[in-house]
Amino acid sequence: MVKQYNIHLQGLVQGVGFRPFVYNLAQALTIPGSVRNSNDGVEIVVQAEERQMRHFVKRLREEKPEVVSITDINVSETDCPSPSDTFRILPSEVHSDRITQISPDIAVCEQCLDDIKRQPHRKDYPFVNCTNCGPRFSIIETLPYDRPNTTMARFEMCPHCRTEYEQVENRRFHAQPVACNHCGPFYYMGNPAVNPGYLNLLRKVAETIDNGQVIALKSLGGYNLVCDALSGEAVARLRKVKQRDAKPFAVMFSSVEQAREYVHIDGEELKQLTGWRRPIVLLRQKKNLAEGVNPGMNTLGVMLPYLPVHYQLLERTETEVLVMTSGNISNEPIVMEPSEAEKKFTGKVPLIVHHNRPVFNRVDDSVVFVEKGKTQIIRRSRGYVPEPLFIKKEAEGILAFGAELSNAFALGRGNQLLLSQYIGNLHEAETLQFYEETMSRFIDLFRFTPKLLVCDLHPDYFSSHLAEHYATAMGLPLLRVQHHHAHAAAAMIEHGYDTPAIAWCLDGVGLGTDGNGWGSELLKVNYDTFERITHFENMPLPGGDKASGEPWRMAVAYMHHYGYTHGQYPPDFMKNIGSSKIAIIEQMIRRNINTPLTSGAGRLFDAVAALLGICRTSAYQAEAAMKLEAICSGDYTSCYPHAEGRLLGFQPMFEGILGDLVKGTDKAMIAAKFHNTLCETLFYYGRQAVRNEGMNSIILTGGVFQNRRLSGMLREKFENNGITVHMPEMLPCNDGGIAAGQIAVGISKRNA
Ligand code: ZN
Ligand code: ZN
Ligand code: FE
Repeated sequence: MVKQYNIHLQGLVQGVGFRPFVYNLAQALTIPGSVRNSNDGVEIVVQAEERQMRHFVKRLREEKPEVVSITDINVSETDCPSPSDTFRILPSEVHSDRITQISPDIAVCEQCLDDIKRQPHRKDYPFVNCTNCGPRFSIIETLPYDRPNTTMARFEMCPHCRTEYEQVENRRFHAQPVACNHCGPFYYMGNPAVNPGYLNLLRKVAETIDNGQVIALKSLGGYNLVCDALSGEAVARLRKVKQRDAKPFAVMFSSVEQAREYVHIDGEELKQLTGWRRPIVLLRQKKNLAEGVNPGMNTLGVMLPYLPVHYQLLERTETEVLVMTSGNISNEPIVMEPSEAEKKFTGKVPLIVHHNRPVFNRVDDSVVFVEKGKTQIIRRSRGYVPEPLFIKKEAEGILAFGAELSNAFALGRGNQLLLSQYIGNLHEAETLQFYEETMSRFIDLFRFTPKLLVCDLHPDYFSSHLAEHYATAMGLPLLRVQHHHAHAAAAMIEHGYDTPAIAWCLDGVGLGTDGNGWGSELLKVNYDTFERITHFENMPLPGGDKASGEPWRMAVAYMHHYGYTHGQYPPDFMKNIGSSKIAIIEQMIRRNINTPLTSGAGRLFDAVAALLGICRTSAYQAEAAMKLEAICSGDYTSCYPHAEGRLLGFQPMFEGILGDLVKGTDKAMIAAKFHNTLCETLFYYGRQAVRNEGMNSIILTGGVFQNRRLSGMLREKFENNGITVHMPEMLPCNDGGIAAGQIAVGISKRNA
């Protein structure tokens, strides 16, 4: 008997070619009914026999387009008022404050790349897209995802595009950003705007790049600065423009084959590199690009083209690889407005290329790496945001402000945790503005009403200040969560823990409950409480924050702490730093002048890197640790003696390192031994804690675990001993994941 069924679907179902797919499937099965987007998902009505309906739902699940993900299907039977004989796509409907998932931006698909070679009205058209690809999050202003609610609203479709948009069997049926040469956005350059024609513009861009110059190019979520990655001069120019001395740049190759000449790509890495999210993937380097692209590193951040303009540009440049870095100065947010680009880059680069499709939500390129088959995300932005993390608990109304560095904030909506895109370091005035602006955009977009605010324990973080301000202004409760508790809770909620966990949280610094800087915490964690089992011994941090930019100070702090005299320092270090500077630091420590205590693991890496002469002062965050990891070579077993006391001390290791330096042991070997020793130490204490609690898993999190050598080795070690390792995978393990942990703690405290 034919009945009418309502099928309600939730998940990533809008703006990803789902309705046309449903339509075509219904046609193929000759099932009448309708489909429409609503603000909380997709509603399908079918008139069919129960058996037919089940078959239809089964094929929906099995044959859906690649980007679609269905998290919930709810089927209910309704009255069958009048039988219909067609299947229709109905206009979108808004009928509650519930929300549907918004698609992240999707790399251009093969078929669209083909269309710009064949379709007359899209010949060479760089803004081509279809229901399976193109801009999404970066252009959406409000829900539901329909053209008038995006920055494409200002472009009126030409008759040709409109026909494609309206024909259900067309690949562009209801592709909201649909456009062509006649009606869509276009590229232009300079101020006042000049449009020499797209192909001429491309030629000029390619020429400028091949001449060793830097150009600014508006892309999907903002501008990129681009130059030839094989020209040392060009890269040096880029460093000047960006005011960035040493931090590695990411590059773009035109194809996997070309990338393979320079980097190793294994199976999972290939999947990430070529997938629709198209992030920057950190890969092991085989062959160097121009000096200055990634100084001192043995990995290279690589991405493949994700916009038509990238393909078209790389077809025209002589160079096969471009440095492609966020268009910003130093630590500022990525530039997204043409006027802003003109202001920042005029006089610094000879060519600024704009387009007239506004970016509404600014997104940087995302960064991931793969270690032991697991993908980890370092910077979560384009292609990932605003995909929610589905959790087992109700998080409605919780707004988490995140930390200070690599900030991202998060909000709780039902059982969804929505993490913002990478915001950056909140020291910079413009980044603060981006932070506040994005927060209010998220609140609007997701129809969010905050009920509980959560921030870090640190009173001086800007995020904490803003949270306090909101709490007062809105009369809302404010919860403060210890930094490493949040790190661990983020990993717990991602992996669905509902029992206590043991976690190693290693990072640079986070304020502890005792007022000291923490950052090497072995914790027993519940969502609402935590216990500090052990940590690295406290070290003086001479000069406070200043010490983290000057690793040599930490070398002095450790040496002084362990009672070494100037004569016992490596001669190289003495020659470079000098006795008098060392003596000043020793004085500061003895007299306790501006010398807080820290157990931050990052500072141990600093001390060792400085003693080895790899990095005595650092130009960017974690430079010393990254360089120490990069120079490692040799075996994974030889070790210095490791700590076994209540706290983790490293005197025997320092003894060993100094001894090796005297013997003239290769620094690459010393660095490897340091990593091995740290791994052994973390394993020893971690296993003990796991056993004492009768558990069988451990969490590893915090920015230090972006060190692949350490995290890979330690994971293997635990797993060989029957202990499962959980690291954040969908969330960054650095401070970009803190807000998720703050929400997790917020949920449990609210329910307590
Ligand atoms: Zn496409
Ligand atoms: Zn058109
Ligand atoms: Fe942290």
